[in-house]
Amino acid sequence: MEERYQAKAIEEKWQRIWEENQTFKALEDRGTPKYYVLEMFPYPSGRIHMGHVRNYSIGDVVARYQRMRGHNVLHPMGWDAFGLPAENAAIERGVHPGIWTQENILYMKTQLKRMGLSYDWQREIATCDPDYYRWNQWIFLKFYQRGLAYKKSSLVNWCPSCETVLANEQVIDGVCWRCDSTVTQKELDQWFFRITDYAEQLLADLERLTGWPDKVVTMQRNWIGKSVGAEILFPLIGREGALRVFTTRQDTVYGATFVSIAVEHPLALALSRGTGQEQVVKEFVDRIKTASLANRGGEDATKEGVFSGGYCKNPLTAEQIPIYLANFVLMEYGTGAVMAVPAHDQRDFEFALKYHLPIRSVIQPQSKQLTPENLTEAYVDDGVMVNSGPFSGLSNMEGKEKIAVYLEEQGWGKKSVRYRLRDWGVSRQRYWGTPIPIVYCEKCGTVPVPEDQLPVTLPTDVPFRGKGGSPLLESKTFFSAPCPQCGGAGRRETDTMDTFVDSSWYFLRYASPRFDSAPFDHQSAGYWMPVNQYIGGIEHAVLHLLYARFFTKALRDIGLAQADEPFANLLTQGMVSKETYRCIEHNWLFPSELVGSAKEGWRCPQCNRPVARGRVEKMSKSKKNIVDPEELVDRYGADTARLFTLFAAPPEKDLEWSDQGVEGAYRFLTRLWRFVGEHRELMKGVTSNLSEEELPPDLREVRRVIHKTIKKVTDDIDTRFHFNTAIAAIMELFNSLSAAAHDEGRLKAGSSLLKGGLEAMLVLLSPFVPHIANELWQQLGHSDCLDQVSWPSYSETALAEDKLLIVVQVNGKVRGKITVSADMNQSRIEAEALQDEKVRNIVGDKKVQKIVYVPRRLVNVVVEG
Ligand SMILES: [Zn+2]
Ligand SMILES: [Zn+2]
Ligand SMILES: [Zn+2]
Repeated sequence: MEERYQAKAIEEKWQRIWEENQTFKALEDRGTPKYYVLEMFPYPSGRIHMGHVRNYSIGDVVARYQRMRGHNVLHPMGWDAFGLPAENAAIERGVHPGIWTQENILYMKTQLKRMGLSYDWQREIATCDPDYYRWNQWIFLKFYQRGLAYKKSSLVNWCPSCETVLANEQVIDGVCWRCDSTVTQKELDQWFFRITDYAEQLLADLERLTGWPDKVVTMQRNWIGKSVGAEILFPLIGREGALRVFTTRQDTVYGATFVSIAVEHPLALALSRGTGQEQVVKEFVDRIKTASLANRGGEDATKEGVFSGGYCKNPLTAEQIPIYLANFVLMEYGTGAVMAVPAHDQRDFEFALKYHLPIRSVIQPQSKQLTPENLTEAYVDDGVMVNSGPFSGLSNMEGKEKIAVYLEEQGWGKKSVRYRLRDWGVSRQRYWGTPIPIVYCEKCGTVPVPEDQLPVTLPTDVPFRGKGGSPLLESKTFFSAPCPQCGGAGRRETDTMDTFVDSSWYFLRYASPRFDSAPFDHQSAGYWMPVNQYIGGIEHAVLHLLYARFFTKALRDIGLAQADEPFANLLTQGMVSKETYRCIEHNWLFPSELVGSAKEGWRCPQCNRPVARGRVEKMSKSKKNIVDPEELVDRYGADTARLFTLFAAPPEKDLEWSDQGVEGAYRFLTRLWRFVGEHRELMKGVTSNLSEEELPPDLREVRRVIHKTIKKVTDDIDTRFHFNTAIAAIMELFNSLSAAAHDEGRLKAGSSLLKGGLEAMLVLLSPFVPHIANELWQQLGHSDCLDQVSWPSYSETALAEDKLLIVVQVNGKVRGKITVSADMNQSRIEAEALQDEKVRNIVGDKKVQKIVYVPRRLVNVVVEG
């Protein structure tokens, strides 16, 4: 055995053994309970970052632990390989996106292998592989047949810099999620998936996701945004028809003093004709239409509007009320028209003040009369209805129901349910994605590509210039295609699919990654699904996680998937963050660029200005506060990298980088290595034993610590994912074992126990630091791999062997405290009390008259005088 801990050699050795033995290969074994653990697969950007290391280390602990608990574990890895960066690389460097992606995959795979992650690499998938994306196309066709995929012209978010359509979820505060450019709007023919058909199911089934963080469930609930209310018709004055509005506050209709409509509303321009408002309305419409959707709908966006020139009738008051165009009303939500009740809606209140529109209160609190002139804000709470015709005097909750019924009776409206969730626009004007399998024919129209002609593969004769529409438009081999129906000349759809399509079902593909007659084998998916534990970032709370749920349900309805929900348990890990350095003139700086020292203060290498240690922020290239996992592994080894990230914080919390923390993790492993080296010879031939045999009290205590640690680590991993406290407990156990082993007498008397403890510790450590644990296990004379060893169990009796803290009094006065083993009898405890130094000093030569013992609590020594 090497005297020094040499991580590199050990890690290479074990990674080779695992690979040769296919240790982590998952086979369907119906006799063994399955456990499917999955980390969100990475985008092959080029190199792994610390966030990956953390995410995958967490997953690996779960995988290795569950294997040792006797589960048949599936732990796969693959690549979310389509997407913009590959195409941008092609534009910038002229490398084909496929080549760029393949190179990155190869490199990152090597990096992941060096982390010692227990993946079944034979199930590896890459979504850019035609064998994968043909099934995206297949699913698309199934959706199309069922009306779940459809095309419509719609206003979309447009990133002028990426020159692509963005989903609403990809617009963050009005800017592109990828490049931060301000998003505008554009009208385009787009393919959509009808996720709204599943809105109610997606909402209802959230109740069943008890293994998900509440936060994510809430975010999805809000995203789906169900509202129950009424649709009301406001008849137009001076023309045919009515404005249809949706409201959840039909109890306030009597207070509706105007109606606001979206600039996209079909009547927006028409209402102004002949009213003198034509010009202002047109200008307003043109201006607002080009603003981004997010800017218009946001809470903080300025509310503005213009009088349309037209009027409608409030059906309940029969009053004539004006129709306004307002920037905050969106066609996408509701009906594009809202009744405005300034007294009871803050947005309408502000709008009414700005444009001097009447405010009428129709609900007021029990004890107070509301005067509209004195209102400083809208009254939005519940209360009693007033100024509401026959409904006055009712509670507004009662009124809500009664008015809805009344509207329906009069033919003025009906009860209605709305969702905030919109259909999912999946068209992208990009190259590096799944081609949509549709051909357009002048004679036959929109024709789906027959299943047996899949995959429609991406052509290679495509220029990447980064301008204009889809690159596929310019491919000679791709663009023209015979119509599958009549054989005439047709043209292919040149849009590719949103890459979120790829990740919406990849977890199903892992069940049978080479299956070639459907996206996945029904039987295999039936065995492995659902994913028992899914692990990934909170940023996917409403994007990927909602789409994956939608796909699972839609594929179930097609008769493919069996599970209703894809992920039984979800863990959202925190970020990896680190301090930053910033020069007021030269912005972010790498710590390695700084000149000076921590003591004298750091300075900017360019301008020599002092640079203060800045805020702790999420690691990012732009903030120059990243740590390259590869350097970390080169220097300390993968086990140290894993131990540090798992020990520094519980998985769901943010992890702050600390060089000392890394050093500490490395030091612990070095001490462990040395300890085994020193005691290896002694332990040869010793049988480990953690059972109930007679032991002297101090060794019984060591045994108790061993069992306590097994219990704690088991609980921490199993139910709480508190890996940090589990590791802390193992470190404490190590200290107890070292202390005991350094005591010649205890070492001799307890060699079986110490060996048992050491072995148990290696088993407990192995999910966290698998290489060193396996190596030391072998050094202790075992020929098996720890991954085949069962997780240790603890004994309640051994645990109960607790220590007691006994208060010692002399003549009723507290003089000290002693710790005794709980199984000591009364006379031994009394003897221990008399032996206590403080007690001995007080008692001195005095005669002990009697000793009072209160079991498990107190010894009172009564002396004369
Ligand atoms: Zn962009
Ligand atoms: Zn045709
Ligand atoms: Zn500077």
